[in-house]
Amino acid sequence: MERVYNFAAGPAAMPLSVLEKAKAEFTCYGSTGMSVMEMSHRSKMYLEIYQQTERLVRQVMDISDDYAVLFLPGGATMQFAAIPMNLLAENGSADYVDSGNFAHGALEEAKKYGNVRVIASSRDDKYTYIPEVTPDMIDPSACYVHITTNNTIFGTRYTSLPDTGNVPLVADASSNILSEPYDVNRFGVIYAGAQKNIGPAGMAIVIVRRDLMGKARPSTPKILDWAKQADADSMVNTPPTYTIYLAGLCMQWLLDQGGVSEMEKINIHKASLLYDVLDSSKLYRATAQKAFRSRMNVTFVTRDPDMDALFVKEAAAQGLVNLKGHRLVGGIRASIYNAMPVEGVEKLAEFMKAFEVQHV
Ligand SMILES: *Cc1c(COP(=O)(O)O)cnc(C)c1O
Repeated sequence: MERVYNFAAGPAAMPLSVLEKAKAEFTCYGSTGMSVMEMSHRSKMYLEIYQQTERLVRQVMDISDDYAVLFLPGGATMQFAAIPMNLLAENGSADYVDSGNFAHGALEEAKKYGNVRVIASSRDDKYTYIPEVTPDMIDPSACYVHITTNNTIFGTRYTSLPDTGNVPLVADASSNILSEPYDVNRFGVIYAGAQKNIGPAGMAIVIVRRDLMGKARPSTPKILDWAKQADADSMVNTPPTYTIYLAGLCMQWLLDQGGVSEMEKINIHKASLLYDVLDSSKLYRATAQKAFRSRMNVTFVTRDPDMDALFVKEAAAQGLVNLKGHRLVGGIRASIYNAMPVEGVEKLAEFMKAFEVQHV
């Protein structure tokens, strides 16, 4: 069977050349005589792979030595708990921006560990925009401010980062990391689940400013303590070795495409192909407010849920799969991460126009 264009929100499409390279090396990596999967995580051959992945992540995101780069199990959701454990002092307080379902999940988790202030929210408006955050809204004594740079379910993104002064900015960038350049120095912590723009599921990359480490609560499990993980090269326990290897292949692929700033240009082009169709349509309506539209998750509806379902079904018959919106919101969502080729988006745009002609 031929490969389809997979518009899934995550786990999501991977670059085909990465899959092919992994396939070629699957049973026998280099001159090691074994699969990466079979290597001891402490072996010299595996440590080279680990260090290469870290080096490439640092290179593509231009991360200075002031930051540790951790590869941790449990995805972004595990970090929802790790963040307060590592950063929220027992009597301290943290400021959260509630811009989507994952943002909400992060703050609900943090509440278990201490005082959480929701300083801005678009929850009552169905998360169709990013709420404004001005410096006066931030508690200058807060342990950190938490944002979600791209809201995967609702299809919104921050077009500029809030100015948090001296309060560390902590960002869940799971669904748009590596899709546009970010100045890492503006953040205390950036973290992302791997299964959208980094590689396969089951891991998060956590980029932590070193001076923020070492303050974890005594009750913090060792595996969630960033300082301990940094000291152990993310190997407090056996790390997701194969996922780290694949993430390295994806980083090399990204560099081969010209790096993050080149990728951003392609992503702007891909997103505009779809938004242009939506904006000139009598059938579709984009659900996110224009000023906050995501370049990674394009969310829209037709005139009713039955028509949405028909759209999803007919698209799938043409090899354009996983376009159903998240179960919380319904509708249609096209996730077009870095690995989605331009041709896939062009095919989808053509399908959308043809479907509209049939159904208006
Ligand atoms: C997918 C996603 C998550 C959850 O990631 P897991 O790896 O499943 O824990 C969290 N935040 C955002 C913004 C996401 O897109």
